[in-house]
Amino acid sequence: MNRTLVLNASYEPIAVVSSRRAFLLVMNDKASVLSQSDRVLRSATVTAFEPSVVLLRQFIRIPRRSIPLSRRAVLEMYDYTCAYCFKYGNTLDHVLPRARGGTNTWDNVVVACVKCNNKKADRLLSELGWKLPFELRNPEPTAAAIIGKRWKEPAWTEFTAPWQRHELKMAV
Ligand SMILES: [Zn+2]
Repeated sequence: MNRTLVLNASYEPIAVVSSRRAFLLVMNDKASVLSQSDRVLRSATVTAFEPSVVLLRQFIRIPRRSIPLSRRAVLEMYDYTCAYCFKYGNTLDHVLPRARGGTNTWDNVVVACVKCNNKKADRLLSELGWKLPFELRNPEPTAAAIIGKRWKEPAWTEFTAPWQRHELKMAV
């Protein structure tokens, strides 16, 4: 089954649904197509290209849930990129070390590569002369909720990129 990215009327990515469901949203005049694939969908009466990205016509309010902090959620949110050297990283680092009172919360956890993690150990960034190239904060729930492999559909990039936090540090 193929998937379609759904954008709120504000252009914020809010869901990934089956292309058939997205097609029905369009047929019912609830959404418009921003990008389509070259695959064809057929209903009893209509034949159309499968939508790849649709935009809701009306803004819908999304209840804001907090995203539980997990190893995988952090790694995906930062796209397996070390916060200190920007190379591939697959370990988590507590910016304020746990041994020094740091919490296991979104505003204190980043991805680090093994090398940087070992170097940092229980030290503070100020003791190492290191700086975080972005501000730590809680993830945007709706955007973070659909981060993952599905996020990487090439046709979605221009619509999801502005909502991806790790872009911030790439810009530095
Ligand atoms: Zn590193």
